[in-house]
Amino acid sequence: MRTAVDLHIHSCLSPCADEDMTPCNITAMAALKGLGAIAVTDHNSGGNAAAAAAAGAARGLLVVPGVEVTTREEIHALCYFPAQDALADFIGWLEGGRSRLKNRPDTFGRQLYMSAEDRVTGEEPLYLPAATEFALETVEAEALARGGVLVPAHIDRPSFSLLASLGMIPAALRARTFEAAGDPPAGLADYRYLRSSDAHTLGAILEPTFFLDLRELSAAAVVEALREPMSVRSVPGCTSCDLGN
Ligand SMILES: [Zn+2]
Ligand SMILES: [Zn+2]
Repeated sequence: MRTAVDLHIHSCLSPCADEDMTPCNITAMAALKGLGAIAVTDHNSGGNAAAAAAAGAARGLLVVPGVEVTTREEIHALCYFPAQDALADFIGWLEGGRSRLKNRPDTFGRQLYMSAEDRVTGEEPLYLPAATEFALETVEAEALARGGVLVPAHIDRPSFSLLASLGMIPAALRARTFEAAGDPPAGLADYRYLRSSDAHTLGAILEPTFFLDLRELSAAAVVEALREPMSVRSVPGCTSCDLGN
């Protein structure tokens, strides 16, 4: 099924996001725009993911469990999981390598935990976006081990992106999907491309302009689609050509 998606949205748990980026507001806006699936991907935390999923379910919207990790190299990497418990387990591992830097709400903004009904349930004292101690390949291995997938974020940006930080795609990286806000950079033709908003405000959430072909509307199917290798491609007149990529 062809599904309109926006798999990179920040909630009010991210200090840089508006405080009206609540579970109910995000999912209501996404449903209003006609999206079929979104992901709430806060910095190094899945603290509002379950609330967003519940708020989304009430509106017929799939919310894929996800997080935006800051690696040791200061690369932003989106990680998606087939279920909330897999995300929670991954976050439990990630917290062991999170920075102990304190948030400064007056400078960076508050980091609010919310219920599915948009009640504030707490405030995170540590500054969540700070780099973790884990390298990109380690983060990917831990995501894959929990049935998830890693997608390098906003590779078309000059900061916090894989290409800006390393200037190349490491040979050991198993990611086959890369995210960009605009057109993908040249030289990535053999990779899948994911367009997302990286919305920090309600108005920035994507209109239904980017679609994934899913076997069903589920988080597992989204993860599956993002993990699909591009090594075998069909060409007209040949149903199973291995082009050797
Ligand atoms: Zn980012
Ligand atoms: Zn982001």
